[in-house]
Amino acid sequence: MSTELTIGKALMQGIALLTEEKIEPPRLTAELLLMHALRKERVFLFSHSGDPLPELAWIHYGRYLHERIAGKPVQYIIGKQEFFYRDFKVRPGVLIPRPETEHLIERILALPKPLGRIADAGSGSGAICVTLAAELRQAVVGIDRSPIALAVTQENAATHRANVPLVQSDWLSAIAPASLDILVSNPPYIAETDKPTLQREVRDHEPELALFAGADGQDAYRILERQSRKVLKPKGRIVLEIGSITTREIFADWSAIEIQNDLAGRPCLLTAIRP
Ligand code: GLN
Repeated sequence: MSTELTIGKALMQGIALLTEEKIEPPRLTAELLLMHALRKERVFLFSHSGDPLPELAWIHYGRYLHERIAGKPVQYIIGKQEFFYRDFKVRPGVLIPRPETEHLIERILALPKPLGRIADAGSGSGAICVTLAAELRQAVVGIDRSPIALAVTQENAATHRANVPLVQSDWLSAIAPASLDILVSNPPYIAETDKPTLQREVRDHEPELALFAGADGQDAYRILERQSRKVLKPKGRIVLEIGSITTREIFADWSAIEIQNDLAGRPCLLTAIRP
């Protein structure tokens, strides 16, 4: 069965609806939702724009548009987000990987090899540990306290044939002393007080555990600073995504502290060697 609607017309209708509802960017969003409804790649939308839209795809497409208009991030609707040239499965309960986190990947890849034993604290979707394990062709331990996150990390590791041993742990509490050469993390770094300023897509849909870190947004760094002193080997290195320069003070007595800025000139990465 099919509707009167063609694929091309369905796309135009979706764009018009999203534009009216002030969803940005309307064209890309409509394309992604229609591709997902049809389970096809983008090129299909244009090479088959005169084809009738199958009824089932029309039902799915309508529901996806409705969910997006209600505030659900497009990545949770289509169940994926690209990160460092790979598709990552995502779902509510894990943070959607952000492009700025690719700076962390590039920093690690630029370190002299061999890197030794690496772990990722708060693996979420597995964007960091799976990418590093795949790029470096070595094991990278994924740590998270959330069973949902561990399951998604495991699935993404399998998809990308990455060697990612998993540990369920509240930060580093279950990690053996002096067992790591490098600890990486993109911990939560939003202050609770900034909650009202967030986009509804983030505030109402992404996991609080992955976003907020106490009154000043620095709680996770304080925990990681204290715990990583124990789990890192002597001369072990920490590489963290950061949201503000204040994190530097927490690591004041570490050595070789480096702060890297993003393209907009904001601090995005802290690297330091264990004291
Ligand atoms: N490590 C994951 C990522 O970078 C999750 C980070 C988080 O939940 N704060 O996407």
